[in-house]
Amino acid sequence: MQKNALITGVTGQDGAYLAQLLLQKGYQVYGLTARRSSDTHWRLRELGIEKDIHYLDGDLADACSIQRAVTKAAPHEVYNLGAQSFVGASWNQPVTTGIVDGLGVTHLLEAIRQFAPETRFYQASTSEMFGLIQAERQDENTPFYPRSPYGVAKLYGHWITVNYRESFQLHASSGILFNHESPLRGIEFVTRKVTDAVARIKHGLQKELRLGNIDAKRDWGFAGDYVQAMWLMLQQERADDYVVATGTTTTVRDMCQLAFEHVGLNYQDYVVIDPAFFRPAEVDVLLGNPAKAARQLGWRPTTDLVQLITMMVDADMRRVRKEL
Ligand code: NAP
Ligand code: GDP
Repeated sequence: MQKNALITGVTGQDGAYLAQLLLQKGYQVYGLTARRSSDTHWRLRELGIEKDIHYLDGDLADACSIQRAVTKAAPHEVYNLGAQSFVGASWNQPVTTGIVDGLGVTHLLEAIRQFAPETRFYQASTSEMFGLIQAERQDENTPFYPRSPYGVAKLYGHWITVNYRESFQLHASSGILFNHESPLRGIEFVTRKVTDAVARIKHGLQKELRLGNIDAKRDWGFAGDYVQAMWLMLQQERADDYVVATGTTTTVRDMCQLAFEHVGLNYQDYVVIDPAFFRPAEVDVLLGNPAKAARQLGWRPTTDLVQLITMMVDADMRRVRKEL
């Protein structure tokens, strides 16, 4: 029997990779898309799957549109990836971030509870919920301490998912994913900002790269690996929460060095520290322990940071060459 999946945030980095994975597995994929004035389908086009998705008009802030999407798609699985996902922007749009990333989850869970209670649900939770870390390596039992309106909103989304699982026996899982990147990453995130700048500097289109706190450390993995973990969570008999990470942490500085070195440049010749990119409160270090995901889901990352950054720089070099 063919399964239906509904993905919110289908036009985002993870949405695009997940849609590709589900299509390969034979799913009928429905994607929720909010009306935008500019093109948001570029990732789906890059993967060659833009025409294979059934689009449903809707917005996580609009409960009616969410109900309609759930009844129309009649999904076996719902993946809630839609969000205002950029930490930096969340201080400028704290209310929107709270409505979409927090209450939006309840809109979806309520629609599932009322109209499709057998549906399996995935919530895109985040390592940003650990924020000011309470343990050196963060796992499913580490207390949360979010440090941004984004982290706070996502924490609500996480707990409402747990609550609906416990209150209404929904098959609702929360994936606490650490940073994951790819050539499809949004340009405002630091890895892609760096790899795009490297390509532009190499081609003489840019002279410097302005960054904020390059001493911050992140546990960076490849988005293509992480969408596999999302799918695996919904194939389990019991819903649960899982940390998904590589178990390695690296500074922004060292990530920069890797990216510049890949094209024979020294990052110190180009990186300028600009206070404009410092945040009101910082998450200094994140380091995940993915042991539970390995044990229960059989999930393991396949791509290390050198491979990831190489892949991203190469993709941006190709893009910039096309522009010339
Ligand atoms: P992304 O590339 O920024 O994609 C976000 C998606 O959400 C886009 O499709 C966007 O649509 C959609 N969206 C924004 N506002 C919406 C609204 N009001 N209603 C419905 N959809 C809306 O993010 P990503 O990297 O793929 O991340 C996917 C999810 O995982 C997000 O929830 C993110 O917070 C979470 N997460 C990401 C990471 C990571 O490192 N990537 C780590 C942990 C958790 P438009 O294209 O139309 O703007
Ligand atoms: P986040 O972990 O979800 O906030 O992912 P980002 O890629 O936006 O940021 C990762 C880390 O890089 C954070 O600690 C930022 O403060 C740091 N960083 C330093 N300079 C920059 C910059 O210019 N842009 C962004 N986005 N992050 C930066």
